[in-house]
Amino acid sequence: MSSRHNHRLLPASHGEGVLNLLSGFATCPGLFYTTPAADGILSRIRIPGGIISTQQCHAIADIAEQYGGGYVDVTNRANLQVREIRTGINAEVLKHLQLMGLGSHNSVVDHIRNIMTSPTAGIDPQELIDTRPFVEDWDNYIAAHPALSGLSAKFSVCFDGGGIIHVCDRLNDILFAAVLVNADVYFRLYLSVGAKGQPPSDMGILLTPKQCLPVLAALTEVYLAHTNTTNKRRLRLLELLNTLGCENYLQEVQQRLPFPLLDGETGKYLTPQPLKEFSTILPGEGKYQHIGIHPQRQRGLFYIGIVLPLGRLESTQMKGLANLAAKYGSGTLRLTPWQNLLIADIPQQWVDDVQSEIAFLGLDFSATNIKSALVACSGNKGCASSATDTKSHALALAEYLETRLTLDCPVNIHFSGCEKSCAQHSKSDITLLGVNFEADGGIVEGYHVYVGDSKQKFGREIYQYVTFTELPALIERMLYVYKIQRLNPNESFGEFSNRCAIAQLQL
Ligand code: SF4
Repeated sequence: MSSRHNHRLLPASHGEGVLNLLSGFATCPGLFYTTPAADGILSRIRIPGGIISTQQCHAIADIAEQYGGGYVDVTNRANLQVREIRTGINAEVLKHLQLMGLGSHNSVVDHIRNIMTSPTAGIDPQELIDTRPFVEDWDNYIAAHPALSGLSAKFSVCFDGGGIIHVCDRLNDILFAAVLVNADVYFRLYLSVGAKGQPPSDMGILLTPKQCLPVLAALTEVYLAHTNTTNKRRLRLLELLNTLGCENYLQEVQQRLPFPLLDGETGKYLTPQPLKEFSTILPGEGKYQHIGIHPQRQRGLFYIGIVLPLGRLESTQMKGLANLAAKYGSGTLRLTPWQNLLIADIPQQWVDDVQSEIAFLGLDFSATNIKSALVACSGNKGCASSATDTKSHALALAEYLETRLTLDCPVNIHFSGCEKSCAQHSKSDITLLGVNFEADGGIVEGYHVYVGDSKQKFGREIYQYVTFTELPALIERMLYVYKIQRLNPNESFGEFSNRCAIAQLQL
């Protein structure tokens, strides 16, 4: 087993488990599947739907203090990661976390990707349906079915309730997107197929809310029937669909269901539609709209979206926010796939107090904070594949820009240490891809610069081999050009760059 493979920590009932080697396969990290990283051992804790209680926050913050680097990172699937773990976490402690509802009840399925939903599920003023029960039901189903340990660790499921803060454009293998048809709520089924990195495709299937779980169970059964689960590398669902074909796959799913997937009247699949046809939300909208203070669908209650610089939260800040949620809200924090979090259910009369206390913890809740949409992968401090120190560079860039310009809407800047793009799979406004090259008589860390949307993975490349020393002034110029040349204040950086010629962007 190579040093990059995972280790499984067995629950207490399996003995004095401290970093027991799993004799099987490489998986994604989980609470019971820690992974060695360049900065120590990494433990990832699945938080289904991103909703975590005050008590759970305290327990994880204690782990981060006792075993790790004294901080936690929110990931792009709204998991929590504890990094820099030097000594194995005692099996009794893991058992305690399990009893608190952290990690799966069944450790063999704990590595499966976190279930995604909007962080505003149940409180979003425009959502069609509260998706939290779907997340809970699917999580319970996974825990009750150990055979699902055969799923690829990257097998990913998302429920989108059709609200303002949507997650339907995030990359997932399977997406259920709520739509309104003749005043009734249905879910359209989307599956990941075709080229890697593309959003999932509409299967032309409309499901009632009650049909979602049986369909999901059947989709996983068919996947398992076609997958050699003894293989070290499991097939991605996309690979299976690309070889088997969607039609064949869905026919096998149909054989496992007591109701028809086809349209009852026509006997055909519904016409596949692009996602936006079923939503008033334009691409890119909703991404960072949750930052700041917002009314909930529950009258008189508000939620506050808090900026976490690069998704990081010191353990003391985590405990402080958890205490605020208990004192003023409903005792939960909601982690987002944009690597920040919300405190919800705050009565209007307490909003000012909560704002002051957030500031006292050294945190901010302004969407125009440059760090609100700044994303970076682990970089070369935590990942051997990284060409650059992405996290330090991202923070240095933010500090440089903060003193020189003010944004009036978020600009999503993504630092990636290599092409794998772990921190953000969807397109960003500006992508900075780390590279090493010769300059100034030595090997330096620098970036290729991409903007907006295009058929290329990271967008359109507008600069190559920019040293980190040159980068802050270059990005400042790009943002300045955007601010003075955009059509109106509502035009996002991505929209602006998509309509401009490269030469214009390079001004
Ligand atoms: S994107 Fe590349 S460099 Fe960054 S964490 Fe992932 S594998 Fe490592």
